[in-house]
Amino acid sequence: MRRKLVVANWKMHGNLASNQQLLEAYIKQLSSFKNTDVAVCVPYPYLAQAQSMLQHTNIAWGAQNMSKDAEGAFTGEVSASMLRDFGATHVIIGHSERATAYCESDENIASKFMQAKTHGLTPIFCVGETLIEREAGVMQMVVSKQLEAILNTHGAAVFANAVVSYEPIWAIGTGLAASGEQAQSMHEFIRGNIAKLDNAAANSLKILYGGSVNPQNAVQLFAMPDIDGGLIGRCSLNAQEFEGICRVSA
Ligand code: PEP
Repeated sequence: MRRKLVVANWKMHGNLASNQQLLEAYIKQLSSFKNTDVAVCVPYPYLAQAQSMLQHTNIAWGAQNMSKDAEGAFTGEVSASMLRDFGATHVIIGHSERATAYCESDENIASKFMQAKTHGLTPIFCVGETLIEREAGVMQMVVSKQLEAILNTHGAAVFANAVVSYEPIWAIGTGLAASGEQAQSMHEFIRGNIAKLDNAAANSLKILYGGSVNPQNAVQLFAMPDIDGGLIGRCSLNAQEFEGICRVSA
């Protein structure tokens, strides 16, 4: 039985004062949740703040990106071991907002995934199709190509205890979430692709859904057998809404 996981993606929001308030509210409202794991992915400068406020709580923290390289002359980059220095346990890899704005290739994303695993971070690997791709009926082809960037080079075992987040691009920040059936169908497809190669890895893999999740639609989404929780953008900036989503998963 996989434990549910709910991850907040704060994106480029917040400041020291507002983060303090939001984290205090998270700590107060989420401390009694024993049956679900919760993590918050903050902007890099606030990792120290997250570490100092969350270190004795049941809430984990992490980052929204990291370098594909371990160390070196890569101005502006942040390595996996730097994230570990601040107690981070999770890192979002290949979020579509980054893949689009910074032209991240599938190969780069695969390297980041492996860097995260090598350094003991849990990668949250984002996959998902555009609206045009869904309307053309090629969403499974798109997502399997994204998975293959890792599978073909590193095999399926690397997905053991990792996290994939299915984030249809048309659902991110639009208020238009996938239905439970649409999401379940893709989650089953993702797990099936891994299971063909490594059944144990597929069973341990958590597959989150991300894209306009709120406390209302989470009820249907999180009831699906292959949906192991959510990656939450907008609603994670409001402690009450985030708590509502975590409560559904608890
Ligand atoms: C996201 O960007 O990961 C996300 C799921 O955002 P939102 O919840 O705002 O759609």
